[in-house]
This record gives sequence, structure tokens and C-alpha cells, in this order.
Amino acid sequence: MLTLEDLHIVMDDFTLDADLSVETGACVAVLGPSGAGKSTLLMAIAGFLPLTSGRILWGGAPMPDTPAKRPISMVFQDNNLFPHMTAFDNVALGLRPSLRLTGPERGQVENALARVGLTGLGDRKPGQLSGGQAARVALARVLLRNRPLLLLDEPFGALGPALRTEMVALVKDLVTETGATLLMVSHEPEDAREIADQVILVAEGTAHAPVPTAKIFADPPAALREYLGK
Ligand code: ADP
Ligand code: MG
Repeated sequence: MLTLEDLHIVMDDFTLDADLSVETGACVAVLGPSGAGKSTLLMAIAGFLPLTSGRILWGGAPMPDTPAKRPISMVFQDNNLFPHMTAFDNVALGLRPSLRLTGPERGQVENALARVGLTGLGDRKPGQLSGGQAARVALARVLLRNRPLLLLDEPFGALGPALRTEMVALVKDLVTETGATLLMVSHEPEDAREIADQVILVAEGTAHAPVPTAKIFADPPAALREYLGK
């Protein structure tokens, strides 16, 4: 279980509070208006942003201070791929930052590329891939890292609707296979409906406790109604 205990973050005149838990293995969509603090929330969980006060626990124990030691993989909106490196190496980084792989590790990278439908494209650099293929490289990397907590910050924001639906389905398959706990920020409520059992609504300075997706869409709170444009 991921627990945000009396979390309080202050950045200039922006504040974000959270006091909530996410069950292990849950698929959670993080929704809320632009600027509400969704990225801030994920960055704090990943350890890239200091807390003003409060604690983040995983399985009841405080998270390590160092982001690299947290049981987390994160994908940012731009997919954080290195443009000068091949797809293979971008994925391999998830396993070995030194890129010195053993034979079996090279096999693992090939398997991860195959699992996201990129067999044979490992030699391409991100500039030689479509947006959807680049997003798949980022997914292959997190797949290989095999961390129990997956944070996706609008990972498919740059993709068109059909491709996005395909990628959301792929994420759903991957987290089902690996049993990972997923927090995914999306500006598309449809993504939440497709992938998430629960929704964390971030609005007016608070990240609210997860609510079942069906329930929150059946009777959206005011902040979500505004965001849904209804
Ligand atoms: P969202 O992801 O929901 O669109 P963000 O988490 O990116 O929102 O931003 C939340 C708020 O924090 C915004 O008002 C933004 O202007 C502010 N903010 C973001 N980064 C910083 C920063 N480094 N310093 C001060 N304020 C910031
Ligand atoms: Mg954001």
C-alpha cells in the first residue's frame, strides 16, 4: 500500500495537501484541472520534490530519500528518452545505467521491446520513431525496471485518440501482468474509464482519496464537472 500521510507541499504561492492511501495493485487515474498539482503529486511520490511536511510510506515503511532507491518507475509527458541513444539502449538504461549488459540481459531488453510491439526497431533513435513507437520505448523501459509502483504523467498526451486508446490498453495489460500499482495522470477522462478502478481528484489544493471510477463519473463532484466541461 502507498500511503501519503498528512502530505503538505508549498511552492511559492501554490500548496498541495494529501492524506490518502492506494491499495497495492490498484489502477488509479489522477484527474484534475491544469495547474491543480497532478505533476507535483507524482514528482513528490517519486522523490524529485521535497515535502514541506508529511510522510510517504510504501508497505508501511517510509520511502527512501533517494529517488533511485524508491520502488518506482516514472514516465513523464515527453517520455524522457535520450535522443542520441537507440531504442535498445534507451530501454537497457532501465536495467543497467552503465549499459554494460550480459547476454541474458540483452535478451531481457529484446523481450521488453517485443512485448510492446517493437521487435526489430531496437536500432532506431527516438527521432526515427513515431510518437506511438517512442511511447512504447518508454513503456518497455519501465517494464524492464519491474518496479512495483508505476507513475505515468500524461504519457500519451501527444498522441491522437486512436493511438492513445491502444497505448492505454497496453498499459492495462502490462500492469495486469506485472501486478504493479499504477498512478496515471491523464487529461482525458476516457483514459480513466478505460484503465482505472479508482480516481484521485486533484483540485483546489487537495489530492483527494481514491474513489471508485464508476462512482465518481456517475455523480461527479463540482471540480470534476468543471473539468469534464459539463
Ligand atoms: P498539473 O500537473 O496538475 O497541471 P503542476 O503540478 O504542474 O499542475 O503545477 C501545480 C502548480 O504549481 C501550478 O500552479 C504551477 O504554476 C506551480 N508550479 C509548478 N512547478 C513549480 C515550481 N518549480 N515552483 C513554483 N511553482 C511551481
Ligand atoms: Mg502536469
